[in-house]
Amino acid sequence: MADFALRSWVEVSRETIASNYRALKQAAGAGVEIMPVVKADAYRHGAVEVSRVLEREGVRWLAVSSVEEGATLRGSGVKARILVMADFLPGEREGLLEYGLTPVIHAVEDIASWDALCARHGARAAFHLKIDSGMGRLGTRAEAAQIAAAVKGCTHARFEGLMTHFASSADYTSAQTGEQVGRFDAVRAGLEAEGVRTEFVHLSSTIPLAYGRREAWGNLMRPGHAIYGYVSPPRGEAPRRILDVRPALAWKAAVLAIKDIPAGASVGYGAMYRADHAIRIAVLAAGYADGIPHRLSNRGRVIAGGRFAPILGAVSMDVTTIDVTGSPELRVGDAVTLLGAEGEASIDAQQIARLAGTISYGVLCGISARVKRVYV
Ligand SMILES: *Cc1c(COP(=O)(O)O)cnc(C)c1O
Repeated sequence: MADFALRSWVEVSRETIASNYRALKQAAGAGVEIMPVVKADAYRHGAVEVSRVLEREGVRWLAVSSVEEGATLRGSGVKARILVMADFLPGEREGLLEYGLTPVIHAVEDIASWDALCARHGARAAFHLKIDSGMGRLGTRAEAAQIAAAVKGCTHARFEGLMTHFASSADYTSAQTGEQVGRFDAVRAGLEAEGVRTEFVHLSSTIPLAYGRREAWGNLMRPGHAIYGYVSPPRGEAPRRILDVRPALAWKAAVLAIKDIPAGASVGYGAMYRADHAIRIAVLAAGYADGIPHRLSNRGRVIAGGRFAPILGAVSMDVTTIDVTGSPELRVGDAVTLLGAEGEASIDAQQIARLAGTISYGVLCGISARVKRVYV
């Protein structure tokens, strides 16, 4: 088979993933375990490779969204405990056992079903229970007494963790996180009063860890974004950040064509851009099918030859056009940076998200499967 050149690719730094994990561990301190979240193919950084890096760093827990994501990791030899966070469908229960995955259970009735399955297989398999402390999404709103009765009814299943998830943890103008902690702690105290204890208590993703909201830490934390080098900016007056991480991913595209266009010429679909003077343009081998937000049409920028180069006209499905008048040395086949740094110039997922009217998570997860991954 012929060799294919890379048109658009991401470079993921294993060392940066590892050092972000070490920074998280250090910020959390002794007595709090870190369970990196590698769902959604590790926010497109590649779940298998990222998990391997993290296992080499000594992680004991990883978190994914689905049974399928967990099975993929097991199939690649990942040995760490794997928590499946975003629920499972009735037909997937057996798979949890088969692949040695730990489910998060979101309804009290499901405790008995899980226990019955464990009993049928003679398995003493663990589960975590999620409390809806105010997020209003997945999680049980049952009273402690009802939960305690279900847990005490288990003959095989092992109640190993109690968790919740915050809706507004980055918003320091909102009282919601404090209220959620209060509701969670009340359920937890209610369970303890019933004599029901669990080994792990976890509430926090990246933000409460990064801004040191210690009352929400428990003894296990679930950071995703920070593993990949991001901490969203807070709203309002947040305490000083106690975590320093760096983006682990850079996204590149090759230059397909370079040409000079005269004043008055338009660029791309809908003639959204019209040159008011002669300029040099470069056509890049990546478009919205690769994950460049269409909303960056005529407003985003990339880095070409170490300098910012504006996106001209519409981002199309497979190509994007930029202004390279300021970079006369650029050649066909050169790489430009869509996300990442060249010298002093840098663009991160948060900046792209602001311009595109989305969130940095969406920018990372939007990098499509067509974009090859290279580990450096
Ligand atoms: C995705 C997710 C996380 C990780 O959140 P980050 O903001 O990326 O750190 C933690 N917990 C749950 C339940 C999640 O769904």
